[in-house]
Amino acid sequence: MTQPLDIARANPNAPAIVGGVVSAPARASLIGLSRPALAAALQGAGVGERESRMRASQIFNWLYVRGATSFDEMTNISKAMRATLDTHFTLSRLDIVSEQISTDGTRKWLLRLADGNEVETVFIPEPGRGTLCVSSQVGCTLTCTFCHTGTQRLVRNLTAGEIVAQVLIARDSLDEWPQVNAPATDTRRTLTNVVMMGMGEPLYNFDAVRDALDVVSDGDGLSISKRRITLSTSGIVPEIERCGAEMGVMLAISLHGVRDEVRDELVPINKKYPIAELLRACRHYPGLSNARRITFEYVMLKGVNDSNQDAKELVRLLKGIPAKINLIPFNPWPGTRYECSDWDRIEAFADIVNKAGYASPVRTPRGRDILAACGQLKSESEKERASVRMARLRAENQDAPI
Ligand code: SAH
Ligand code: SF4
Repeated sequence: MTQPLDIARANPNAPAIVGGVVSAPARASLIGLSRPALAAALQGAGVGERESRMRASQIFNWLYVRGATSFDEMTNISKAMRATLDTHFTLSRLDIVSEQISTDGTRKWLLRLADGNEVETVFIPEPGRGTLCVSSQVGCTLTCTFCHTGTQRLVRNLTAGEIVAQVLIARDSLDEWPQVNAPATDTRRTLTNVVMMGMGEPLYNFDAVRDALDVVSDGDGLSISKRRITLSTSGIVPEIERCGAEMGVMLAISLHGVRDEVRDELVPINKKYPIAELLRACRHYPGLSNARRITFEYVMLKGVNDSNQDAKELVRLLKGIPAKINLIPFNPWPGTRYECSDWDRIEAFADIVNKAGYASPVRTPRGRDILAACGQLKSESEKERASVRMARLRAENQDAPI
């Protein structure tokens, strides 16, 4: 049974919403900044150059090792400095609008950003590990026909801070920061892996995703190693090499079709970057080896891409690429025109893939009862139409004192 916990937590740092208009936060958030960027921010607030570097390391440690949510907790920083920090900066997390827990333990949070837009984040517990599925955009520019997020137009990219905040909120909620007075290493970690598989196409928000993952993987902070971080892309070919070179994370490709006519329909970006080009970029992915394989995701759609012929073609296409194959039973959502392949069809397909040397490739659907499974995420946030925006701005300008 699903337990919707409507906890709409009050966030003291959240911006005020007055008459439906969200005012920008007066103080800048320090969440998501690298240590050099933190030091630069402190210098901007009048802290000396040398001191700012030391304080930046201390704050980084408080934020990402201890999970501090206020400057007051930072007991190795003088009271006067804490007060200065508090006047200039916030450690604002995102607001939790709701938290839902599935019968299988999967948790989904609906989070509200400072401008009122909303995104979803999902935690999937498994024996010995736990994976957080993080969003990179509000909505998506792409329109993959089997994906719920694809029905929501892109509203905007998330900032690095908003991406990192999703990880902090999950750790808060799972209550796994080290206890006060316990050594920082003394932490029961259930959140061990991060996948950029929530809402949005991460390679269309490259810089913010890269900066956020640098913070998440920092060994003096959250310390989730890049081997445990996977970025999934629909196949933005020109960014794939940069992804390996600059982010160095594990790569997953949403393949879903083995012939261009079929993939053009399912993943329309295929018309721009067809299968042959995509696989060429994969063969050249920096750091690729048998120990660091690319995962190819393949959603099982009844009568569309699930024949034995398709399975054989999949194996043929991936020949020579160090690869894992992940067959994903299609997760339905309201209004979809697709159906999930029958179980015996999935088994027959998996059998061909297994016989070609790829182990247990079927991904168990998790959190379907709370629409938290792959491709089911969507928020109510809509991009304001240009005409509506103009009317609002005109009205606001009329009200503004001259
Ligand atoms: N935009 C990125 C990452 C987010 S989607 C991408 O497309 O790769 C994460 C994964 O879920 C992708 O493989 C996506 O194709 C898959 N997916 C989307 N909708 C789905 C659905 N309804 N059922 C199962 N998987 C789905
Ligand atoms: Fe966007 Fe990925 Fe969904 Fe395609 S599958 S619409 S790229 S989120």
